[in-house]
Amino acid sequence: MKRLLILIVLLLSVLSVYGFDWPVNKVIVTSTFGESRGDHFHTGIDLGGGTQPVFPISSGQVVFQYNSGQYSSTPIGLGNFVVLQHKGNIRSIYCHLKDNSIKTGIKSISKSDQLGITGDTGHSYGKHLHLSIIDFETHSILNPLTLLPPVKDKQPPIIKNVWMKTGDEEKKISGTDTVKPSRVEILAEIYDLREDVSFIWKLAPYMIVLYENGVESARITFDSIVKYSGKLVLAGSKRSFNDIYASDWIYRLGSIELLEGENHLLILVKDFAGNESMRNFFINAGKPK
Ligand SMILES: [Zn+2]
Repeated sequence: MKRLLILIVLLLSVLSVYGFDWPVNKVIVTSTFGESRGDHFHTGIDLGGGTQPVFPISSGQVVFQYNSGQYSSTPIGLGNFVVLQHKGNIRSIYCHLKDNSIKTGIKSISKSDQLGITGDTGHSYGKHLHLSIIDFETHSILNPLTLLPPVKDKQPPIIKNVWMKTGDEEKKISGTDTVKPSRVEILAEIYDLREDVSFIWKLAPYMIVLYENGVESARITFDSIVKYSGKLVLAGSKRSFNDIYASDWIYRLGSIELLEGENHLLILVKDFAGNESMRNFFINAGKPK
């Protein structure tokens, strides 16, 4: 028992050396990485929780800071923001900070140094902190939720409605459908839920996998975004915003070939805390009952 305790303490100290910490004390994730922002991916996470001090996720160097009071130009979308450089070519960006809350003249910063205060400067609806993490070695924008300490969440994501689309025709899949054998695109309304509120506040899930007759046919993972052929795409699947989103919360899972007979579709969705949801559909092609 004592050995186990020592092992746990050792493990935790190792984790805290390499891991990142939350930039705020009251952690309320109001928006996740990869969510639709109309015509582009949300490239970070949003943290609510009202007015609170903002700290670096790890010690580092101040690379850049923007204070609206400092420049005569109009504030840009990020509002007042700070960019930090950490070990391993990792940069973190803290946006929408309160006017005049950013400490100026600091180069080196430790985890306990306050960077600023949450605000709603720039393109922001209500006070929140937007945090982005970028790996300059691999030129990728990373999902902060894969690097920060785990969020408490017991609610599995929701797989609400699923459709199959051929040409302009869209049909909701009920689970016992009969259609012609054909190639169809599968669309699904999927979202995770905020844990701390009782009303529906949608968040992007972490992973969506589509299986056809027991074989994986498509996978969407919101772990990092890279530039590929001049577009921002999900690193794993190389799919762009338009390849992923039909509209907000409606995902283009992929195309499948419905063969004559019974076709089994399985949609598996995971959130960042590891909660899973699954839905099975059976589509009978070519043999009406
Ligand atoms: Zn944001």
